[in-house]
Amino acid sequence: MKKLIDKILALENISKELEPTKKERNLLNQEVQSYANTFIETLKTKPAFSEGQVDSAKLKMSANKQSLTTLLTSYASEVADQGIKPASGGHLGYIPGGGIYTAALADFLAAFTNEYAGMYFGSPGAVTIENELLDWMKSVFGFPKEAIGNLTSGGSIANLIALTAARDKHQVKNERIPKSVIYMSPQVHHCIHKAIRIIGMEDIQVRLLKLDTSSKIDSKTLSEAIEQDLQDGLHPFMIIASAGTTDTGAIDPLEEIGNIAKQHNLWYHIDGAYGGFFILCDEKKELFKGIEMADSLVIDPHKSLFIPYGLGAVLIKDKEAVFHSHHYTANYMQDAIMDMQINPADVSPELTKHFRGLRLWLPLQLHGLEPFVACLDEKLLLTTYFRNQLEIIGFKLGPEPDLSVSYFWYPVEGVDENTFNEKLMEFMHQDGSVFLSSTRIEDKFVIRMAILSFRTKITTIDNAIVMIKKCLTLTIAHFGM
Ligand SMILES: *Cc1c(COP(=O)(O)O)cnc(C)c1O
Repeated sequence: MKKLIDKILALENISKELEPTKKERNLLNQEVQSYANTFIETLKTKPAFSEGQVDSAKLKMSANKQSLTTLLTSYASEVADQGIKPASGGHLGYIPGGGIYTAALADFLAAFTNEYAGMYFGSPGAVTIENELLDWMKSVFGFPKEAIGNLTSGGSIANLIALTAARDKHQVKNERIPKSVIYMSPQVHHCIHKAIRIIGMEDIQVRLLKLDTSSKIDSKTLSEAIEQDLQDGLHPFMIIASAGTTDTGAIDPLEEIGNIAKQHNLWYHIDGAYGGFFILCDEKKELFKGIEMADSLVIDPHKSLFIPYGLGAVLIKDKEAVFHSHHYTANYMQDAIMDMQINPADVSPELTKHFRGLRLWLPLQLHGLEPFVACLDEKLLLTTYFRNQLEIIGFKLGPEPDLSVSYFWYPVEGVDENTFNEKLMEFMHQDGSVFLSSTRIEDKFVIRMAILSFRTKITTIDNAIVMIKKCLTLTIAHFGM
């Protein structure tokens, strides 16, 4: 017995390293706090993109202990200073992320208390907070209180959960799969195609609808496609619309599509991962009319609510459809079965999950909703401002955007326009002070702007214009024009 106790105590002496003392904790916190301050204070003066090389030796797993100072230095040079900086206001490519500070503090709280946010029994408080957030989202989007939802890691998993519910509601399985039809825009986010494959619907019929001149689904085309498929003995079962496409930010005619879905008894799914929360802007409410008709809706707080990466959400009206795949009772869970609140684990493939709701709940409670809405309104106006400035210096613009994604290109003669604009993009990436990305609209190479970072301000756009002018001069010189 003595030997056993000695052994345990010897191990305790080593493992206690995992519980720093109060003094040690203070020192560790101070170091991270000081790095956070430096990082945030210098964001404005650093490029939004650098094509650098990571010195992987500095990130190698080492058998020996290292100091936090050393590790933070490597983190700064090899992680934070490389590639695209999603925390930078100069990130105007793809769909920019957020990263508000108070959400990081919430993550800190969630991590050291390590709340178990999968089951109400485990952490009634955490699950109540998550369900509270979902209730708030239901009210924002006009969903009934009985709808259920989940806070996911992002839009991709949220879409996966919604599509699974649609599949189960309409019993799309076995020989029914190749006869079933999903309607969507060719501009739908690629995670939808991934989800279709993941949930075993690879052999389903996918109708990519023809879009109108503003890159939106044309409801007449949709109706005709459904009628044709019905005549051909197929089984139309779902229509997917976007409330803000990734490519151009277009919002499909949600109400018209909703009526068609109702008429044909189709599952109506709306992907609002990028654009959804713009519904909070008075000026844009009209565009979202009909969103409440959806059977399922995806929204990403880590996009349009400026939260750090790792927070999406899905709302679904039909609880039974969701439970079909996700609700499970195992013997070893018998203590945890309580019906007082929906368990996140019954609405998601995840069981144990990070208490990710806190990173949205805390900032919303601390700051109130107003600055979030003001920030969204600001992004909309900055988009207009950016487009005006680009036009002044000779760029051609894509159509007036619904939200904060738009595109532009420089018109040239004598040199292939796509080649010219590709080179221009290359110069912009080399510069990196502001980061923009590109896309193709009907085979035309265009430069894309997406304004969504809470740190993008009017000075950011002024800097972007300075950079673009500089790169334009370089491109013109490159082609000897
Ligand atoms: C970003 C995005 C997704 C995917 O969401 P993730 O959070 O990246 O997984 C889906 N749909 C749209 C419209 C998006 O913009």
